[in-house]
Amino acid sequence: MALKDLSTAELETQLTDARDAYAKFANRGLLLDITRGKPSPEQLDLSADLLTAVTNDDCISPSGVDVRNYGGLEGLRELREIFGELFRVPVDQILAQGNASLTLMQQALTFALLHGTPELDTPWATHSRRIVCPVPGYDRHFALAEELGFELITVPMDDEGPDVSAVRELVATDPTIKGIWVVPMYSNPTGATISEERARLLLDMPTAAPDFRVLWDNAYGLHHLREPHGQMLDVLALAEEAGNPNRVLQFASTSKITHAGAGVSFIAASPENISWFLKHLGAGSIGPDKINQLRHLRFFGDAAGVVAHMAKHAELIRPKFDAVISTLEAQLAGSGIAGWTNPDGGYFITLTVLPGTADRVVKLAAEAGVKLTPAGATHPYGLDPDNAVIRIAPTMPSLEDVSAAAEGLAACVRLAALEKLLA
Ligand code: PLP
Repeated sequence: MALKDLSTAELETQLTDARDAYAKFANRGLLLDITRGKPSPEQLDLSADLLTAVTNDDCISPSGVDVRNYGGLEGLRELREIFGELFRVPVDQILAQGNASLTLMQQALTFALLHGTPELDTPWATHSRRIVCPVPGYDRHFALAEELGFELITVPMDDEGPDVSAVRELVATDPTIKGIWVVPMYSNPTGATISEERARLLLDMPTAAPDFRVLWDNAYGLHHLREPHGQMLDVLALAEEAGNPNRVLQFASTSKITHAGAGVSFIAASPENISWFLKHLGAGSIGPDKINQLRHLRFFGDAAGVVAHMAKHAELIRPKFDAVISTLEAQLAGSGIAGWTNPDGGYFITLTVLPGTADRVVKLAAEAGVKLTPAGATHPYGLDPDNAVIRIAPTMPSLEDVSAAAEGLAACVRLAALEKLLA
């Protein structure tokens, strides 16, 4: 029964029960952490063969590049072919780079700040600038843009992606709005996948800034949890069809495919954007780590190799997602005090609690031994106006620990809600 329909006396009884349940959980003395979306050790083990895939006697790429030497700023062609196929991008429009796609996002924004863009050579740093942040979203996107001097403007997200009518209204008249963050598939943290219709609207909307960018961070595009899975949009073709070929910068990496600290990152864009990016990149690099790229190439073999590898990840992490969802269902369904996403891919579940209680839930959980991402982290400046959103990252801990953490979390959600309803 929904808690809001209970009498005060009934709520008080429930509060006593909730306090007991919480104390029982806290007394177990567990130390659990469901904060960051990292792969588990078992997931990292799936890529063990990477570490021996290149030796000094065997370090020439299929097209004859000695990967130990300087050069090849674009990254190894054969690896770009594989990921180009997976991300639906022609090989000449995708670069393979270092271990972090976040670095590529930082570089792209920094180049625009310092040098302007192919369309407009006015450096963005010469004027005030703003960026649209769909919420809930990824805290590092917000922190990166804030650090580069962008004002962060929020728009809501739903199951089909960002609220495009809100976006269209903002960007139509304000030339200082230079971009929008989009995590198109299995977004961090809700797991939502953008619909083709929304994507088309973002790509053809009129923008006051002639060099507006959609920062299409496809970090989870290959991370399906279930079959059949969503289809990857050919976003560069859609942008071209819309008459705005330069609007999209697409990013991805193998961080959560192979080794999160030692993967390969990718940027894909129009030919004009790619030569712009390479020109500025070349001032600071003679080429990426091609030894690591050759390791990845040999480890996967081809695009089907990547798909087969991702299926192994799904086998490992699906039970953890299912454990969280089934615990939340069992403990909180019908209570009217919480909702949660049940994503088909990616790394996160979003838990929405009674407005005004997210920070209390996080504090209660910490005191009972369950570390959660701080309340507000899913919003620009760390401020969730409803104080209601909590991000759950189930991949890293063991299945047993994830199940225990979800149980503890549910006890905290119930206790915080009852405290609030009786306050
Ligand atoms: N983009 C999103 C949406 C993420 O969730 C993450 C990591 O959590 C990253 C990018 C980081 O990617 P990388 O390791 O390639 O820098």
